[in-house]
Formats: sequence, C-alpha cells, structure tokens
Amino acid sequence: MTFATKSPWVIHYDASSCNGCDIEVLAALCPGYDVERFGIINTGNPKHADIFLVTGSVNERNIEVVKEIYNQMVEPKVVVACGICACSGGIFHDCYNVIGGVDQAIPVDVYAPGCAVRPEAIIDAVVQGLGVLEEKSKALQAQKKGA
Ligand code: SF4
Repeated sequence: MTFATKSPWVIHYDASSCNGCDIEVLAALCPGYDVERFGIINTGNPKHADIFLVTGSVNERNIEVVKEIYNQMVEPKVVVACGICACSGGIFHDCYNVIGGVDQAIPVDVYAPGCAVRPEAIIDAVVQGLGVLEEKSKALQAQKKGA
C-alpha cells in the first residue's frame, strides 16, 4: 500500500492563463475535490511552499516573476505545469510575446496537460510531485552526509 508521507503546501501563479486553468486549480482546492482535507494548503508565500503550480504560458513580462517565485522556494521543491499553455505555450505559443511553456523559465518536474486541465489531473500531478519531492529530499540528505 502506498501512502503520502507529507501534506505538501502549494503556491499557485497565473503566468498568462485565460483563467480557465486557474479555475480548475481552485476547484481542486475547494469543496468538491477538497485537497485541503489531506492537508494540502494553498499558500501565498513561496518560502512556505513545496510545490509550485503554474498556469498559463511564460512571456517576456512574467518570466522574471516565475523565476523569482521559484528562487524564493526552499529546496527540495517541485514545479507542476498545469494546462497545455504551461506545458508548451498551448494555443498562445505563436503570440508575439510568448516564450513558451514554464520549462523555458525554470525546471518543470510534472506536466499536467489539458485545456483546461482537469482538477483530477492537477491532483494526480501533485501526488506525482510528492514522489519527486521525496526523491529530491533523499538526494539532499545524502549530499549533506557526504559533505
Ligand atoms: S490550457 Fe486552455 S484553459 Fe488553460 S490557460 Fe491555456 S487556453 Fe486557458
């Protein structure tokens, strides 16, 4: 039997979403899907967050914000690209100011495609992210012991 060993806190940033994916992130958090019952809290402080949920594509204006939030998060940390715009630029990929998916700015650990991404896919991505978080945590501990 597998079980979650941690209740991750998430931070959500709308890079340049049409708001479709943002609504789905909120749906995952609110009653109905209610991931808060597992202790998964949406925080506004990057320093408190384990998982960075990004919706929308990265463009010339928001790329520095995406990098800043990521850099303020403490290791180990995980990034989830929520929706096809965050994964690859989606339908906006050809816009004059769009650079592409979130991985053009920061390393992405889990991709959750969809337009809009479904709450089930977001929850699944967060669970996958927990596994990545644990691997990164073990690697950090091994690094500290070796140092
Ligand atoms: S993937 Fe679809 S719903 Fe989500 S931000 Fe892009 S266009 Fe909007």
